[in-house]
Amino acid sequence: MTVAYLGLGANLGDARQTLKDAVVCLAQQRTITVLAKSSLYRTAPIDAGGDDYFNCVVKLETTLPVRHLLALCHKIEHQFGRERPFRNAPRTLDLDILLYGEQSIDEADLIVPHPRLVERAFALVPLVEIDAAIVIPQHGRAAALLDSVSDQRIEKVKSPCQCPMLDALSGNSADKGRCE
Ligand code: AMP
Repeated sequence: MTVAYLGLGANLGDARQTLKDAVVCLAQQRTITVLAKSSLYRTAPIDAGGDDYFNCVVKLETTLPVRHLLALCHKIEHQFGRERPFRNAPRTLDLDILLYGEQSIDEADLIVPHPRLVERAFALVPLVEIDAAIVIPQHGRAAALLDSVSDQRIEKVKSPCQCPMLDALSGNSADKGRCE
């Protein structure tokens, strides 16, 4: 079993609903146990046009080797209608492997920790929310990197939804009554 962290993002269609559905989709995989889910965040697009993004981070435990996890991410993106007309195009769903255990991987089609994790508030902020002490291989404590991305617009989305199922996945048990 390996603990991994996935970054989820979307800015096309009903992006908020897509992220919720994608978390359920991950939780339904036999090979995955979802351990925690961050709040939902609204963020400014970076190096891209289009609408604001919605982002969250999921902590999971998996029996999948990292390449199988990447293939699963691509399959789920495809199921949610992901197309890649050009680099950084708006997207119905983007799934990134942020961390996979303590592994460092540097191959043509797979880099872990994700190469943009330490540069992006939309990945760092939700990651630190669900695991305040998390250490990023080669970079140290994620919390210590937050200052360097503090100029990037990111706001936590508040929801009146009282859904108990998704709330149970929240990493912050003190923050009851939140399902996003
Ligand atoms: P994107 O356009 O952000 O979905 O990028 C997808 C491409 O990034 C895929 O072809 C992946 O093989 C590659 N990639 C490299 N490292 C990672 C990673 N850690 N997580 C997800 N995709 C990755």
